[in-house]
Amino acid sequence: MVSGGGVLTAATPGIGQSYFGKARGDDVEVFTLKNRKGMTARIMTYGATLIALDTPNRAGKLDDIVLGFDSLQGYLNPRDPYFGATVGRVANRIAGGRFTLNGRRYQLATNDGPNHLHGGVRGFDKVVWTGEVVPGTEPAIKFTYVSRDGEEGYPGNCRVAVTYRLTDANELRLDYLATSDRDTPVNLTNHSYFNLAGPEHGDILGHELLINAGRYTPVDATLIPTGEMTPVAGTPMDFLHPTAIGAHIRQVGGNPIGYDHNYVVTDGGKGLTLVARVREPTSGRVMEVWSTEPGVQFYSGNFLDGTLHGKKGVVYRQHGGFTLETQHFPDSVNHANFPSYVLKAGVTYRSTTTLRFSAD
Ligand code: BGC
Repeated sequence: MVSGGGVLTAATPGIGQSYFGKARGDDVEVFTLKNRKGMTARIMTYGATLIALDTPNRAGKLDDIVLGFDSLQGYLNPRDPYFGATVGRVANRIAGGRFTLNGRRYQLATNDGPNHLHGGVRGFDKVVWTGEVVPGTEPAIKFTYVSRDGEEGYPGNCRVAVTYRLTDANELRLDYLATSDRDTPVNLTNHSYFNLAGPEHGDILGHELLINAGRYTPVDATLIPTGEMTPVAGTPMDFLHPTAIGAHIRQVGGNPIGYDHNYVVTDGGKGLTLVARVREPTSGRVMEVWSTEPGVQFYSGNFLDGTLHGKKGVVYRQHGGFTLETQHFPDSVNHANFPSYVLKAGVTYRSTTTLRFSAD
């Protein structure tokens, strides 16, 4: 039986389901989506987390290109850095965990030094969602979760859903929905770490990255935006043309060194827009990221330090994977010049991100 939803039958194309373990007493299930070309995505109900994604290289060979763990235990470890998870209620940082909305001050849980990060101590990545098969010709699962009024300090009962769909054009499409009975900030994203060569093949510094963004939002020492939107052209932040991630990473600085910045997508936030294109030269794999979101956090896996052992026993070292987290800008709730992510009561939040895979 599929928890909370349709019954899985032999007639459901390209979908399998299996038991993964227990998280705080609750059963966690894994859904496997497979398209007609053999591409496979595995998503578990804990955190509505993408745990595996098999895509073809230029020779047609499938490899799993996302970082993660073989067992649920790895994801329950508090040191799991959000591998593959659905992140919310608000992804990214909120300064001091504080904001004012409708004249009222809110204090959220702080879990990243002085700041609130990725929804708090027990964000959407650390709860068990309900998975339901979406009827149709392409394999799709809708995950739902109800976040209660006051959870991690947020106002309003907020119903959220994310649908993962695998198309026959080798796209993984993520559609997010949310509604709330009180005004609340909402900023949902997926936190997959990619290594298009396969995580067992070293770091991502040779991946060629294009980010469709002429500006980024500089940050202070605790990674909170200063509020500026600074042109990237001619700086180490510039990915307007395909550039190896490692080409200028030393000049970016940071402790630990690397990219951990939000980019302002050119003409973003108005419809499905090209956000980024990544190519890995040895495998030929290409990933395009398209999104309705106005920003993307590019994170080059700076905090990976060789202490986590992932799938197939692979040691995840610094820069062993990267993320491209489509979202509204960090700390938007405290910056009137950033696009707002406040969801009004009774209004439906909608967001779509599509990952398109190919090889050349
Ligand atoms: C943040 C990093 C953080 C990581 C969590 C990213 O989205 O930008 O600063 O360390 O998530 O592992």
